[in-house]
Amino acid sequence: LTERLQKAMEKLRRKPKVTEEDLRETMREIRMALLEADVNFKVVKDFVKTVRQKAAGAEVLKGLNPAQQIVKIVDEQLTELMGQEAVPLNKADHIPTVIMMVGLQGAGKTTTAGKLAKRLKEEQHARPLFIAADVYRPAAITQLQQVADSIDVPVFQKGTDENPVQIVKEGLAKAHEDKNDYVIIDTAGRLQIDETLMNELAQIKELAHPDEILLVVDAMTGQNAVNTAQGFDDKLDITGVVLTKLDGDTRGGAAMSIRAVTGKPIKFVGEGEKMSDLDVFHPDRMASRILGMGDMLTLIEKAQKNVDEEQAQEAMDKMRANEFDYNDFVAQLDQVTKMGPMENIMKMIPGMANNPALKNMHMDPKTFVHIKAIIQSMTPAEREDPDLMSPSRRRRLAAGSGRPIVEVNRMIKQFNQMRKMMKQITNGNFGAMQNMMGG
Ligand code: GDP
Ligand code: MG
Repeated sequence: LTERLQKAMEKLRRKPKVTEEDLRETMREIRMALLEADVNFKVVKDFVKTVRQKAAGAEVLKGLNPAQQIVKIVDEQLTELMGQEAVPLNKADHIPTVIMMVGLQGAGKTTTAGKLAKRLKEEQHARPLFIAADVYRPAAITQLQQVADSIDVPVFQKGTDENPVQIVKEGLAKAHEDKNDYVIIDTAGRLQIDETLMNELAQIKELAHPDEILLVVDAMTGQNAVNTAQGFDDKLDITGVVLTKLDGDTRGGAAMSIRAVTGKPIKFVGEGEKMSDLDVFHPDRMASRILGMGDMLTLIEKAQKNVDEEQAQEAMDKMRANEFDYNDFVAQLDQVTKMGPMENIMKMIPGMANNPALKNMHMDPKTFVHIKAIIQSMTPAEREDPDLMSPSRRRRLAAGSGRPIVEVNRMIKQFNQMRKMMKQITNGNFGAMQNMMGG
């Protein structure tokens, strides 16, 4: 998919003017590329139609030539096709929330189960319980146990001669007894979809009433990933997909097809073997990846950079005048999230580009989400006047955002430090800011 699309875009990009014929040819290429990737015919038709319409009626964007505009439109449409927004994990209104991991052997079920549990622990202070329901490979239970030990999560397990459905039943009883808020069932996989496996999974589903059936698919398997997804969805009516091994060569075409074919959201992506290598799936980022963000979208970014620099300059002026409030802070965070790593946005702040401290700087994207949640819980008055933050208001923010009070306090403290520090930054004192960002 990627190659074909990229070639078409590359060709278009080199042209200063796009004729009606160019546009038609590009649309043809896009259509072929999508069909080759096994995307449903109707989806392809709709996709091409929308891109065409938008391209025809595109407004002239500051600094973008027609070819770049089409790239932008394709990017936006791809994003929409993959679901537009990140979709969170389902949560039951009573404990435990039951998550069932399904997928072919080697897709990454056990690893992803561990990553998810770690995430739930960190984000919600959850107390998950694993149920080891893969009894066919002797090493499977040991592997789950190792994963579980590394993140300090209990495992409910029985001998390999037990029936998986029975294990799940007893495991759920144990979770009720221990008041675990999440149960993650690690099931068996096969090299390919077969009747026996599907029946077993269907029985487990019947018994456990999972709130979430997460299909784990290996992104490297390309076309097969789509068929796998369809097969599992037909049988089990999955609720979400985790796409693993995106750290490999693959550029994510499977993400688009899976979403298009099953209609089920991709919720997470696996990007490595470590327990921390799990990210929320963001359709816009995947679209950029499919298009080959690297060279393609930098063009567009460059065209828009002037605007960003204006905004950054405005923020700097406000900081210096000590008028920088929470609204500005959120605006900056949004830019950072949109633009990619913190390093990049910092470079846009005048005078920062060549600062050596930027080299080692790195920020966890999750932090942004949490900070934003807290600020979104503020009243307009609080956002405009950062000095209003009394203890009772802080407690309200914690309740409103679902973040612990210590985190609210830390955010406010950091924000206040940031305001103070902004004056110093222009003098080249950058270390303090780096500390603040946890760099
Ligand atoms: P399962 O059979 O579905 O339970 O798959 P496993 O969890 O045992 O994973 C199979 C292999 O894939 C293991 O070697 C994992 O370390 C590896 N793996 C899982 N997820 C990822 C990922 O996102 N990236 C990479 N590079 N490897 C992964
Ligand atoms: Mg496994």
